[in-house]
Amino acid sequence: MNSKRNKKLEKLDKKYLWHPFTQMREWEKETPLIIERGEGNYLIDTYGKKYLDGISSLWVNVHGHRNKEIDNTIKAQIDKISHSTLLGLGNVPSIELAAELVKIAPKGLTKVFYSDNGSTAVEIALKMAFQYWRQKERGKKTKFVAFTGAYHGDTFGSMSVGEIDVFVEKYKPLLFPVYKAYYPYCYRCPVNKNYPDCKIACIKKFEEILENHHKEIAACIIEPVVQCAAGMIVAPHGFLKKIRQICTRYNILLIADEVATGFGRTGKMFACEYEDVTPDFLCLAKGITGGYLPLAATLTTEKIYKAFLGEYKELKTFFHGHTYTGNPLGCTAAIANLKIFQEEKTLQKLKSKIRVLADLLKDCKNLPHVGDVRQKGFIAGIELVVDKKTKEPYSVEQRIAHKVCREAREYGLIIRPLGNVIVIMPQLSIAMAEIKKMINIIYQCIESAIGK
Ligand SMILES: *Cc1c(COP(=O)(O)O)cnc(C)c1O
Repeated sequence: MNSKRNKKLEKLDKKYLWHPFTQMREWEKETPLIIERGEGNYLIDTYGKKYLDGISSLWVNVHGHRNKEIDNTIKAQIDKISHSTLLGLGNVPSIELAAELVKIAPKGLTKVFYSDNGSTAVEIALKMAFQYWRQKERGKKTKFVAFTGAYHGDTFGSMSVGEIDVFVEKYKPLLFPVYKAYYPYCYRCPVNKNYPDCKIACIKKFEEILENHHKEIAACIIEPVVQCAAGMIVAPHGFLKKIRQICTRYNILLIADEVATGFGRTGKMFACEYEDVTPDFLCLAKGITGGYLPLAATLTTEKIYKAFLGEYKELKTFFHGHTYTGNPLGCTAAIANLKIFQEEKTLQKLKSKIRVLADLLKDCKNLPHVGDVRQKGFIAGIELVVDKKTKEPYSVEQRIAHKVCREAREYGLIIRPLGNVIVIMPQLSIAMAEIKKMINIIYQCIESAIGK
């Protein structure tokens, strides 16, 4: 192990890097963990220490690191071309991938617009929805509806429809106003009821907003079935379907942000499938390339696409495009990712792993400071509370979930919290024994960080 080089890297990281979502003063005080290699479900640091990747390298990796199929596909594409533009030209992998995406997406989504991250996939859907109505109804429908706890990215448009205060509060003066409906956070019900007796009463607010303002509303944006960044909030079955029905009734477009939930994470290829819903826009990123390269796609319908057709001078064109749009390496990785789903029957094999994860999580629920355990497929969250009876949350300064995650690192597991929620989002390729190991470590670290 090259300890001199490692020390130098640690020094240079602190000297030159500014890390995302990170208080850099804290970062500067600690020795950074620097990843050098990956191997299947493991990350390996510069000292050769191995860690189980419990959050799929931030919700992106699907079939493991250094997957042979994806590695080789990318290498073969490099020997042809690494990048060529989609502005005025086509490229082979972007065409082949678009056809594959349409095949697996909810029925009716037939057009693919590429970009390179989740935030832009969302921006594109927002802009398309907005422009669609400008061209249809001379711009009367200009507003959006979003949900409490929503996270759609870090650009201004996606922040406007987002609602996690610590992320967006400072920028409020620059954000456009958005109607906010309740997302069904059942553990802390926004209308103080209990599921299922409530019959999903929190949806009323959404219905009222549309009833009163539908003439000015262009679209609704939702994270279908699970809000991830809000702390793995799982919506009860039926919520999404109702949202779709109400949108249709009031002639409002539905944007499904499946940036986090897409590509098998919930146990199905897309979360929309759970409720047989076709949105007007489907935003995809994170897992699309198997967690290899930055690529995103916004899928939409013929109806939307056609509203942008016209003579050039009518200026109905969608004037939007990122430089690396449809990057061949990214598209090729995505094609390989989908091929593995098919060849290895990833989703079928996942079923028994999801059950094992559910069983193991039950034990965690019994820990004295675990208020709620939520799971949908391979997405899970453990919400820590001071008092189980009152559901009193830990204060932000206590950073309790952060402590648990730091401790887990000592046992060879990388996880990352969201507020008071411990996030579990392993790769779909994780082995049974590794699931057990992961939950064991988390259980022990909760005990030792908070006490029994
Ligand atoms: C991560 C995420 C985004 C933003 O994606 P980036 O690639 O980080 O820009 C948007 N929506 C959801 C639901 C996400 O989880």
